[in-house]
Amino acid sequence: MQYRMPRKFSLCSKKHFKQSQKEVSLRLSIKKIHYLKIKIQQQQLPQQWVSLFTAKNILKFCKITEDDKVSYCFTVHEDLSFYVTYCSNRIEVNGIEDEKIANIETIFDVINEVDKIHICPGNNDDKFIYLAENRKFLNIEGVPIASLQTIPTKTIRHHNCTIVTSSPDKRCITCNNFRKTLFALHHKVKYPKSTNKTFTSHRFLIDTKKNQFLRAFFRKENRFVKKGIADMKLEKFDSYAETNSIAVDESTASDMIKIMNEHNAQISATYSENSFQKLFWDSQLKAVTTPKKSIRWHPSIIKWCIYLRNKSSSAYESL
Ligand SMILES: [Zn+2]
Repeated sequence: MQYRMPRKFSLCSKKHFKQSQKEVSLRLSIKKIHYLKIKIQQQQLPQQWVSLFTAKNILKFCKITEDDKVSYCFTVHEDLSFYVTYCSNRIEVNGIEDEKIANIETIFDVINEVDKIHICPGNNDDKFIYLAENRKFLNIEGVPIASLQTIPTKTIRHHNCTIVTSSPDKRCITCNNFRKTLFALHHKVKYPKSTNKTFTSHRFLIDTKKNQFLRAFFRKENRFVKKGIADMKLEKFDSYAETNSIAVDESTASDMIKIMNEHNAQISATYSENSFQKLFWDSQLKAVTTPKKSIRWHPSIIKWCIYLRNKSSSAYESL
């Protein structure tokens, strides 16, 4: 006959066995926490460190700065695991191999290692601090990427700041890169761009400013138009002279110059120095003896030409 074990005598399950094991180890850890608490109170902590045993079954140690602000916090949980924070940012502590606090010496080892840590100073220049007091640092998607921290000292820290650095007063890479943005913002605030934009829409200007703007605009336009007309006239005159002038050969030209020179003295004696006839003669003599492009006509001759052309174009053309 086969024997069957009654249900009430069955062995306890693996799950229940593990749970009870955990409970036992936690109870032992809590007992150790209470033991460590008593032992710590009998010893002197390193300078600036204080113990805060406010929570039940938790050990907490804090480093207080000279101006009474909390910088580091070292917390031991009831299962003896621990973590360290700097201004509420969790940091890694090198040189501690154990994951859990084994005895009172480990507590002092952690505190000594924390004291050796170098912290990224962020961007604590006064010229940047005032920027952070008046604005938020957002990326192009509108997400904050850096902010002003006031504990333990005022500094602008990037949100990806590693906090711990390899050497004293050395910034982490993200805070160092963000420094370029801060310099650019500072420069923008210190040297603001002129508000007199070239393309300000005059719709937004007040009446007096609008008048000034329009007057300056039309004066400039007028100048351009006048110059354009003058250029067109000159071009037209050049093409007219090219097509309608009569070319004389070199021997005829030298004969005419010779005749004019022979009669120059007689004409100069006949007409007074200030007379129009004398001016006309001198201008013509100068025109035939000077290269074409270097001649400058006397204003009175130009006026006379315009007057004559106006009175009778055919008389003018025949000359
Ligand atoms: Zn940093």
